Amino acid sequence: MLKEAFSILSKRQVNFKCKLYKQHTWLTRTINIVQGIIMDNTRYYNNPFEDYPNPTAQQLINTNTKEINENYKETLYTCTKKLLDHLEEKKKHWISNDDCSVYTGSTGIAYVFYHYGKCFNEPTYIEKAAELLKACVSKFRGRREITFLTGIAGPLALYAIILHLQENKQESQNMITKLKSLSSLIMDIHSNLPNELLQGRVGYLFSLLFLNSHISPPPIEDKLIKQVIAIIIQSGNMYSASTKYKTPLMYAWHDSEYLGGAHGLGGILYILLQARQYLTQSQLENDINPALQFLQNLRYPSGNFPSSIGSNTDKLVHWCHGAPGMSMLFNLAYEIYKDEQYLKTALQCGEVIWKRGLLKRGYGICHGVAGNAYTFLCLFQQTKDVKHLYRACKFADWCMDYGTHQTRSPDRPFSLFEGLAGTIYFLIDMQNPSSAKFPGYTV
Ligand SMILES: [Zn+2]
Repeated sequence: MLKEAFSILSKRQVNFKCKLYKQHTWLTRTINIVQGIIMDNTRYYNNPFEDYPNPTAQQLINTNTKEINENYKETLYTCTKKLLDHLEEKKKHWISNDDCSVYTGSTGIAYVFYHYGKCFNEPTYIEKAAELLKACVSKFRGRREITFLTGIAGPLALYAIILHLQENKQESQNMITKLKSLSSLIMDIHSNLPNELLQGRVGYLFSLLFLNSHISPPPIEDKLIKQVIAIIIQSGNMYSASTKYKTPLMYAWHDSEYLGGAHGLGGILYILLQARQYLTQSQLENDINPALQFLQNLRYPSGNFPSSIGSNTDKLVHWCHGAPGMSMLFNLAYEIYKDEQYLKTALQCGEVIWKRGLLKRGYGICHGVAGNAYTFLCLFQQTKDVKHLYRACKFADWCMDYGTHQTRSPDRPFSLFEGLAGTIYFLIDMQNPSSAKFPGYTV
C-alpha cells in the first residue's frame, strides 16, 4: 500500500517536472531564437545562465556533500533514457552507413550502450554493444587504420573488454593479440604515419592504456607500451629539430602544426602524461615538461588556445581545437608537476568555456556542448570546487533541451563524437560526476 502510494507520488512528481520542463523548453527556445538573430556572426550562444554562487544552485547540488541532488539525478536519468530510446528507434539511420569507428560509426554507438549497461546494471545493453562490436571487428579486416577513435583499435579494445566481462577469456585474448599485432605498423619511424590522437600513434597508445585500465591483470606488457612511447617522443624530437621552435617535441599533420586535442600537440602530450607510469624521468623532465611550457605560452590573451601554430583567430572553443582539450591536459600536468601555473591555465580554460562554450554546432562531444562540459567535470574532480560542478549542471540542462536550439545539424547526427550518442554519454557521466571521463581521451 505504502509502496503504491510512493509510486503514484513519484509519477506525479515526474509529470510535474515534465510540465515545468515543457515551459522551460518553450522559454529557452524563444530566448535562443532572439539570441540567434542578435548573435548571428558568432560560433556560440551567449551564456544565459547565472553563474555560481546563486540560490538556484541548491536545487541541483548539495553544497555540503558536493554531490548532485537525487531529484536532479532523476531528471538526468529520465532524459538520458528518453534520448537513448530515441537513438535506438533511429537504428536504421546509423546502422546503414559503413562507418565502424568509435568517432562517427557503430562502435561509438556500442560504446554508449556499454557505458549505459555498466553504469545502470543493464546487461541487455552490454549484449547489444557486443553484437555491434562483433560485426565491426569483421568489417575492419585488412584495413590499416590503427587508432582507437577512427581505426580498428577501438572496436578491438572495446570488444576485448566486453568479452572479458562476459568471461569469454579466449575470444577476448584473440582481440588483444590482433591489437598487439598492429604494433609493427607503429614502429617504423620513417613511415608517414602521424602521431596525433585521431589518426596517429598516440591513438594506438590510448588503446593499449585503455585495455590495461579495464582488464585485470593488465594484458599489455610494459615493454610494448614503452616502445610505442619511445617512437612518439623520437618522432617529436626529429620534427622539432627541423623547426625553429623552442620545444623538444613538435608534430605536424597535413603540413600544419596543430595544437588541439584531436590532431595536435596538446592531445599527444595528454595521452603521454596518462602513460606516466611507463615514462622515464628524462622523458618527463626533458621532453614533456618543456613542451607543456612551450604550448602554454601560445595561449591567446583570452586564455583560449590556437588550433595551430600561427593561427591568430581566437574563434574555436572545441575539444578538438581550443581550450576544452587543453583544460584536461593542464589539469593533469598540474597533478604531476605540481606547477601552480598549469592549474591556473586549466582554470582559465574553464572561464573561456563558461563564456563561449554553448556552441551553435550542437550538443556533441568533439565540437559541441557536451564535450565542452567535460572541462567543468574535470576541474571539479581536481579542485572539488562546487562552482565547476554547478557549471557542468547548467551545460547538462542545455543538452537536456536537445534539439530546441537553432544548432547546425552534424554530418553524423547519431554518432558518439558528433551527435546524439555523445550527448547521452555525457548525461550518463553527469549522474556520477566524480568518475566522469571524456570518452576516447581520458583513459
Ligand atoms: Zn571537432
